[in-house]
Amino acid sequence: MTLAAKNLTLSYGRPQRALPAPAAVLTGADVKVERGQALVLQGPNGSGKSTLMKALARKLRPAAGEVTLDGKDIWQMGVQSFAQKIAYVPQTLTAPPFMTVFELVALGRSPHQRTFQLSLNENDRALIDQSLRRCGVEGLRDKLVSQLSGGERQRTVIAMALTQGPDYLLLDEPTASLDFRYQIELIDLLGQLKEDGLGIALILHDLNIAAQLADTVALIGGDSDAGLGPSRIIAQGPVEEVFARETLQRVFAVDIEILKGVGKDVYLPTRLK
Ligand code: ADP
Ligand code: MG
Repeated sequence: MTLAAKNLTLSYGRPQRALPAPAAVLTGADVKVERGQALVLQGPNGSGKSTLMKALARKLRPAAGEVTLDGKDIWQMGVQSFAQKIAYVPQTLTAPPFMTVFELVALGRSPHQRTFQLSLNENDRALIDQSLRRCGVEGLRDKLVSQLSGGERQRTVIAMALTQGPDYLLLDEPTASLDFRYQIELIDLLGQLKEDGLGIALILHDLNIAAQLADTVALIGGDSDAGLGPSRIIAQGPVEEVFARETLQRVFAVDIEILKGVGKDVYLPTRLK
């Protein structure tokens, strides 16, 4: 079972016949998300990480190439059956302000409903409770989503995604608004979900957190020869291979020290190159 992108080219804006095709953001991208593993996307701001994630989440149609789930083009799947398999947590989610945490998390069950009206059975309620607990927001269940802090909101949205009962979880910078403690909690949770057989793709900026969780890292960067040309996947593979000092320095244009002999390697960005 695999969620795979093959030779993707991604761009924004629908090409019109009279206009030249919109410039590509990313080109030639191949990635795989396997069940029970985590793929971490890394790269500088604006390199196209979120764009690639949107393509995996079926929010953006590829200009070329395809995204497949178990060999089948995801755009050929029904909306509901796609949502039963793949949950996506965008960087910022706009939730209706009048919703409570429980109501938002319960919406995760909608891909499994036969009718438009959400009616929750015992199994649905058990799954909702489990997600609320796993994400540490059970105490907030009756609070309005609009009244949550950034971190609480982040954890609530992840709880909603888990409630979907997906095979794959796609997360765009899930640690961005979390303090250290919740970052560690989230990474532990994602580690557990991996062991439960979930396939996870996520965007993380912190090299050390990425190294802890990733089975595979895909490093996305601009095409240095072409200057402002579309980004490409510069390196992809296990952390030890991809996080080579020279590669990281080139892609991020920052000096990076790698401290060895302290358990896991520690990646320490120091100064601009
Ligand atoms: P990253 O997540 O790596 O920071 P993004 O994927 O968000 O980068 O953006 C990659 C490029 O695509 C940027 O140049 C950005 O300006 C452009 N872009 C992102 N979203 C849109 C959009 N909705 N419409 C047009 N261009 C976009
Ligand atoms: Mg982004």
